[in-house]
Amino acid sequence: MALDFSEYFKRYEAIVAEVETVFDKFETEMGDLVKCGKGCSDCCHALFDITLAEAIYINHKFNELFSGLERSNVLNRADTADRQIHKLKRKVFKASQEGRPASEILLEVSRARVRCPMLSDDNLCVMYEHRPITCRLYGVPTSIAGEAHTCKLSGFKGGEKYPTVNMDIILDRLIGIGRDLQKGIGSRYKELGDMLVPLSMALVTDYDEEYLGVNVPDKVVGSDRQTAASATKAPAPRPITIKAPGGAGDACSSCTESKSACESCTSNTIVLGGGEGQA
Ligand code: SF4
Ligand code: SF4
Repeated sequence: MALDFSEYFKRYEAIVAEVETVFDKFETEMGDLVKCGKGCSDCCHALFDITLAEAIYINHKFNELFSGLERSNVLNRADTADRQIHKLKRKVFKASQEGRPASEILLEVSRARVRCPMLSDDNLCVMYEHRPITCRLYGVPTSIAGEAHTCKLSGFKGGEKYPTVNMDIILDRLIGIGRDLQKGIGSRYKELGDMLVPLSMALVTDYDEEYLGVNVPDKVVGSDRQTAASATKAPAPRPITIKAPGGAGDACSSCTESKSACESCTSNTIVLGGGEGQA
């Protein structure tokens, strides 16, 4: 029997709806600074990971909507992107082993460009309605772990103060859904809910019982088939934060306080609390 993710999908969709409301508010109130539009796709070459709940949701929608040649094209692109990301991760690992400074490595990662498999040849998102939350908010000021970010093609400039979407809270809520999912389906992988994967991997993965560690005897888990445990042995704590090189960068640089501690910044922060019990 197929696993039932409907409860978790509903919770994910509720967060998406909140995110859309926030983006609409930016467009209404700061429309001259939000530059996102059809065919604008620079952000579709940035590196980012998505949480388990989002990965399963998008995988489900992809399987529902895509077949034939269009499906093969996306999967081929996902395969190419996956190989590029794997190569890049190996390079980063080697650089850190060689003792290169983290800031230097992160800058290199931020400059890397990997074309998203959902991006068609005419630069349109083939699953726009179901794109990840990161894509929905890339064009407005966000903060991750106290670091502010805006798309370099937007009108938001460094040194100015803007309302900022706190991505940490969104991420915590998404991970919360993943952890509930892990318990709800009875997965043997305790850290399943904390998994972060690139979109390309989410598209090519079969999120079935074996992969997710449900009702799986030990001998099957030890087989060659990839499982959640082998895909991400040590889940990264946060998605890769991409700061546009030479772009808008910090949305606020008016003081040296940590942005999460600065009262004027926190009072300007958009918090998506909603029904997930996070303040
Ligand atoms: S986030 Fe930036 S690159 Fe992406 S659509 Fe908006 S303005 Fe264009
Ligand atoms: S999912 Fe769509 S919007 Fe997001 S990076 Fe890929 S092509 Fe761009």
